[in-house]
Amino acid sequence: MSRREQKCFNCDSGVARAAPVEAERERRVTETIDRRGLLIGLGGLAAAATACNSSAQPPARKLGYAIVGLGYYATRVIIPQFANCRHSRLAALVSGDPDKARRYAAEYGVPERSLYDYRSFDRIGDDPDVDIVYVVLPNSMHAEYTIRAARAGKHVLCEKPMAVSVAECEAMIAACRAAGRTLMIGYRSHFEPHNLHAMKLAREGAIGRRRYVHAEHGFVAGDPGQWRLKKALAGGGSLMDMGIYSVQAARYLTGEEPVAVTARASTDRSDPRFAEVEDLIAWTLDFPSGAISHGMSSYSSNHNRVRIAGDRGRIDMEPATPYAGHSLRLVRDGGEQRLAPPPGPAVNQFVGQLDHMSESAASGGAPIVAGEEGLQDMRIIEAIYRSAAEGRTVRI
Ligand code: NAD
Repeated sequence: MSRREQKCFNCDSGVARAAPVEAERERRVTETIDRRGLLIGLGGLAAAATACNSSAQPPARKLGYAIVGLGYYATRVIIPQFANCRHSRLAALVSGDPDKARRYAAEYGVPERSLYDYRSFDRIGDDPDVDIVYVVLPNSMHAEYTIRAARAGKHVLCEKPMAVSVAECEAMIAACRAAGRTLMIGYRSHFEPHNLHAMKLAREGAIGRRRYVHAEHGFVAGDPGQWRLKKALAGGGSLMDMGIYSVQAARYLTGEEPVAVTARASTDRSDPRFAEVEDLIAWTLDFPSGAISHGMSSYSSNHNRVRIAGDRGRIDMEPATPYAGHSLRLVRDGGEQRLAPPPGPAVNQFVGQLDHMSESAASGGAPIVAGEEGLQDMRIIEAIYRSAAEGRTVRI
């Protein structure tokens, strides 16, 4: 990492240039996650599981996960959280780098026999310790490893974006269905108490009739050589990586599906980072009720903000979808309140996600963010790209 870059714990890249104050806040937030794991994000998991129409049941034993891809998100964010899970445990590692795999295996007590590389991956089907494969690879590899895992008879948790095309998403859903296995997408905000509380308030009329969502997500991309900036591996630019949070927020806060999109992109192609993928992209989504959402994503400026406005008030979240340190405000009746989610079990979004996946796999119930959720986002993302390329409104 260059000296101009700082690890960014509030965005998905893991790396961004940050101002000193922001960097210090991020460092403290991350230390809090690493050491205590459970501190951030009180409440909400029980509410998530029940409020979201899931039939998931607690499994009789902890289900074993194989983590595929030992990059930043897998090793720094997800793997440490197994220690806090009630229904999930780390069982196997899949990596192209045997030394790295052995290092993490030693740190987390994974036996040598449960280490796989990308060629031996399919043997995971014979491993009774592995119930769930968690795909944490570059985006264009999600479809292949999800399908291989399903064919090996394993349930799959796949990171966002689900894949890089609608066709891939459909093939993943079909493969898991054919194998009779559960497929869930790593949409952690659906397990995050502030976002869950915002969804509930909006749904229950706290801001009146829902009229408008504004959602911004972005960070400053560093190294031009990283996979996120390569079309073949990332599938696209800021929209695939960060704009997907803006699309998600518009959907889960309005509770509606968009019917049309109008989009514009702006990318400096002389910047070596953006030779292959878009930087700034902005769009308008039209919803059947007449609600509108403005969304955007960027790889050249920092954003993490969501607002939903109704005819009686509004909800503001900034940051809206970080790893920790969320802020939620309700503005109504001439006043503004900073809200904490209602008290509940001390579970953070990562633990909530892992355990919900285990519960869904064990019970055969549909997870609250199943493959169809990822497919719907990919339909919208493809429509956003088409609208920006063709300069016209596209119906979804
Ligand atoms: P990363 O670059 O840190 O890790 C990627 C891993 O894939 C590395 O271990 C790398 O060795 C491996 N890999 C295998 N084949 C590769 C290839 N051909 N090219 C490059 N790497 C290859 O990336 P990350 O930030 O951990 O992201 C991984 C996935 O997780 C992405 O899909 C990303 O969108 C997702 N993610 C989600 C969140 C979230 O909050 N839900 C956060 C970060 C990342």
